[in-house]
This record gives sequence, structure tokens and C-alpha cells, in this order.
Amino acid sequence: MYLKALKLHGFKSFADPTTLKFEPGVTAVVGPNGCGKSNIADSIRWVLGEQSAKALRGGKMQDVIFEGADTRKAAQICEVSLLLTECEKQLGSEFHEIEITRRVHRDGQSEYAFNGQPCRLKDIQKLFMDTGVGRTSYSIMAQGQIDQILSSKPEERRAVFEEAAASPSTSRSAARPCRSSRSRIRISPAWPT
Ligand code: ATP
Ligand code: MG
Repeated sequence: MYLKALKLHGFKSFADPTTLKFEPGVTAVVGPNGCGKSNIADSIRWVLGEQSAKALRGGKMQDVIFEGADTRKAAQICEVSLLLTECEKQLGSEFHEIEITRRVHRDGQSEYAFNGQPCRLKDIQKLFMDTGVGRTSYSIMAQGQIDQILSSKPEERRAVFEEAAASPSTSRSAARPCRSSRSRIRISPAWPT
């Protein structure tokens, strides 16, 4: 399975309908500061169901809608579609290609679609469960997250591992470090040792 295309319309700086096509292998997005590279990563996170405006570098959810420019008025709606191909094996799907769409209006109304048919966020979450794809599965690493992992400060690296292991936040665990890490690491007696 691989990401075949990403379609953006009215999402952040992508006011015009834009389709990005990807091939198997490594793809690099290159451009000057502020040209919209991180907005592409944000759009993937968003279409997969991100509910935190902060994770999308905004204050509220509607901040992802194109807010207008000197020569252009703001958009009222934004839409992102993500097209995955060769999905049968990884997603256990009857479909060879899967297109997930998310749309949001300025009044806050939000919609999701699966292969063009309206669906719920829950259906999308269920589809990607345990596949390594998804907004919380580290398949998308935001700018600065790699720095955090490579950081020489153990507490910064630890915060990443704790989040990946779904442990309590660093601030909470810092207050009782031994309890939180010990209580979560258990070896099942049923496993061979
Ligand atoms: P850098 O190299 O500095 O990381 P980048 O290529 O990752 O830059 P982005 O952060 O993706 O750039 O894009 C920032 C641009 O997107 C800014 O010019 C900002 O004004 C624009 N932008 C963000 N949200 C919106 C929005 N809702 N409407 C219009 N433009 C937006
Ligand atoms: Mg960036």
C-alpha cells in the first residue's frame, strides 16, 4: 500500500484545487520558507481525522480554511482527499484504491467520505486501526519532532517514547517517574522468557 495522491482545495495556503501525485519510494517536498511544505503534512494529518487545532498549528479548527489574501477573498469551505492504492493486504480491504475525504465549512460543519460515500470519523479510524497509518501512529512526524528524538536531552527523548507508548504526559509522569514507567512495562507470564 502506498500514498498515491493528495488533493487539496481551500486548505491553508492551497486556495486553488491542487493535486499532488506520489510514486512508490521516497518523495521529498522542497521549497523556500513559508511556501507550504508543512501545510501538506498538516493536510494528511487532518484528513486522517486530527481533532486538535494545535496539532495543525492553529487556534481553532476553522483556521485550516484558506483565510484570504490581498487579492483574494477567504474560502468558505476546505476539502482534502487522500488516495491510497494497493490497499487489499494492509487494510484487509476489498478495494484496490481507497479515497478518504474530509471537508469543513466555516460554520464548523464537518463531513467525511470514504470512496465518495459519506461516512463517520469512526469508520476512518476503524479502517486504519493497527495499520501504522493514522494521525497518532507516528506515520506523520511534524517539523521539530525529529529534533526532539535526536535531542541529547534524555527527558525530551523520553517524552516522545512515552507518548508513543500512550503513557501519561511528561509533566504528570515527571512528578512520579518510577510509578508511571514501571506500572506500564509488564512482561506477560504467558510469553516465553
Ligand atoms: P518552513 O520552511 O519555514 O517550515 P513551510 O514551507 O513549511 O515553511 P508552511 O508552514 O507550510 O511553510 O506554510 C506557511 C504559510 O501558510 C504561511 O505563509 C501562512 O500564512 C500560510 N497559511 C497558513 N494557514 C493559512 C490559511 N488558513 N490561509 C491562508 N494561508 C495560510
Ligand atoms: Mg515547515
